[in-house]
Amino acid sequence: MNPSRVTSRLRPFGESIFTTMSRLAVQHRAVNLGQGFPDFDGPAFAKDAAKAAIDAGFGQYARAFGLPDTNAAISRFAARSLGWSPDPDAEVTVTAGCTEAIAAVLLGLLEPGDEVILLDPCYDSYPACVAMAGAVARRVRLESPEFRIDADALRHACSARTRAILVNSPHNPTGRMLDAAERQAISDVALERNLIVLSDEVYEMITYAGPHRSIATLPGMRERTIVMSSLGKTLSLTGWKIGWTVAPPELTAAVRASHQFLTFCAATPLQKAAATALDALATDDGYLGQLAHEYARRRELLLGELTRAGFRCIAPEGSYFILADVTDRGFDDDVTACRAMVAEAGVAAIPASAFYDPSHADRRYARFAFCKRDETIQAAGERLAGWRPPC
Ligand code: GLN
Repeated sequence: MNPSRVTSRLRPFGESIFTTMSRLAVQHRAVNLGQGFPDFDGPAFAKDAAKAAIDAGFGQYARAFGLPDTNAAISRFAARSLGWSPDPDAEVTVTAGCTEAIAAVLLGLLEPGDEVILLDPCYDSYPACVAMAGAVARRVRLESPEFRIDADALRHACSARTRAILVNSPHNPTGRMLDAAERQAISDVALERNLIVLSDEVYEMITYAGPHRSIATLPGMRERTIVMSSLGKTLSLTGWKIGWTVAPPELTAAVRASHQFLTFCAATPLQKAAATALDALATDDGYLGQLAHEYARRRELLLGELTRAGFRCIAPEGSYFILADVTDRGFDDDVTACRAMVAEAGVAAIPASAFYDPSHADRRYARFAFCKRDETIQAAGERLAGWRPPC
């Protein structure tokens, strides 16, 4: 990518690491455990609903903040984890995936010069969207291998300009889930400093350490939290790009102020299908139980393969990612390791330093995705076990 015409706000971010690694994976005919997308299809009940929605004529723009049926279905689905039913029309906004939700939230909420606390590492679109909003990211580094959040570190990062803290649980790329003490720490600081909490919960249904609990469920937090999620991971249909926010009406107004000018609305037939699919999940636990069961199995499979190939791994509590220590295979840094791995071993992973502020990145981990078929995971394991990088 030639950066000469790219705005200075975005120049530091370069090309997304997912684009780079997927391109290298194709170039080297590698097994792609980099970009986190399933290499298996989503469920028939969702695909059939999409076909039916197209046939039924859902071909024009939807209401900007969501097709009424979709807002209602999201409200019912969200009630399971939140414990209350958000008002479908005043508190739910349908977006083009959670990535648009993140952009809409930050662009709709922040004044130029406002500060947002980001946890380091964090998903790569957060700092880019903070920059697009003309705001400033204050990054609080979480130390490996525990990656725990500490209230004092959060307090230390706050200034008079701090407006929000952006959290993510289950967490990409570490696989950590916030525990009760960490949720309390975030809530304490948010209440003390009058901060808004932005909570990315897209891996909410993919957990191994007990069910996900939203930060919005803590006392006093519902009023100041914007929950962001999507169906991409839950339905293994990342290309549908149906996401949402749940927030009290005043915060929802800020999200919608930018969403209407970003995408106006998410794809109408897929919104209609999302409504049908989410309602199916609400009445039948079979699919979600199976999803959790399958991911627990794939997690064990990839942990076994990576361990066999000589990597120490951080076993995730949620999400579909495993961090593996590349120093165990003789590398000093993750970017060199991932470039060598894709070219020589034919396995693509994501260097986890891409999720850090480059000035103080932890360069020890490669992130492997296990939202893949057994054959894919096993093929990657065999290639890695047979790989002898030149030392
Ligand atoms: N969320 C996916 C991941 O972390 C990738 C999304 C993307 O390609 N932008 O791997």
